[in-house]
Amino acid sequence: MTILRKIVDIIEPIYVMEGAGVLLRRSIATQRLDYLDPFLLFDHFGSENPRDYLAGFPMHPHRGIETVTYMLNGQVEHKDSIGNSGTIGRGDVQWMTSGSGILHEEMPKEPEDGIMEGFQLWVNLPAKSKMTTPRYQEVKASKIPEVQTDDDAVVKIIAGEFEDVRGAVTEIFADPEYLDVYLPAGALFEQPVKEGHAAFAYVFEGEGVFGDFEFSSPDKGTTVPSTCLLVFGDGELVRVYASKEVRFLMVSGNPLNEPIARYGPFVMNTPEEIQEALEDLQNDTFVK
Ligand code: MN
Repeated sequence: MTILRKIVDIIEPIYVMEGAGVLLRRSIATQRLDYLDPFLLFDHFGSENPRDYLAGFPMHPHRGIETVTYMLNGQVEHKDSIGNSGTIGRGDVQWMTSGSGILHEEMPKEPEDGIMEGFQLWVNLPAKSKMTTPRYQEVKASKIPEVQTDDDAVVKIIAGEFEDVRGAVTEIFADPEYLDVYLPAGALFEQPVKEGHAAFAYVFEGEGVFGDFEFSSPDKGTTVPSTCLLVFGDGELVRVYASKEVRFLMVSGNPLNEPIARYGPFVMNTPEEIQEALEDLQNDTFVK
């Protein structure tokens, strides 16, 4: 018997101000859910009001983590200390491995169609890779594989695999899966998730039925409206029924089970390593 993953928590994001004044909806890295090993933070930015985001994220450091930015709408200009610069736009993904240290800026631009929206996920690095060489991967929307199922579901595979199609972003330490799933009303969706991996769904449009239920009786599942983050318990398979049209992110990854010490943009294993990061920054020895 296949073990369906049950919902163990449903989290409504809270509004926070970050960077130089960007209004975000945060659902991981809050009092409610500090850490979903290996995921350190999950932010949903989105507004029709440029004043909510134009101040952006001027030059700032990161150490010990990977950040994944996925754009739904609008454009963000970026620049970093390892020589990358450019603009990421609608449907593009930026996967940044800070490793030993990177300085970068992320500045949203005034959008042409009036809406700015996207997501940023922080994925922890294992102790042995925290001081790895910084790396930057950018994947344009056109390079992100998309699968349309018999049920007319449309699945964009940012990382991991869906129906034997490999995602665009590879070689990430936590072996994550990151799917953008659209289901028309009435569609069914199933995705195997490796046992032992942490898994969440982030419902950002419409509503769907999640949890442990048979497709013949979706009333036994839990109806989850947008905008919510669902944390799944362990098991082998995630099942979803679109009671209405629904769009969500399906994310999973291998937990590290290591101690963490975090201070803003630095996430290390011990307080001493955080102190070292601060000293490196002060002494101008941060970028190795
Ligand atoms: Mn950043």
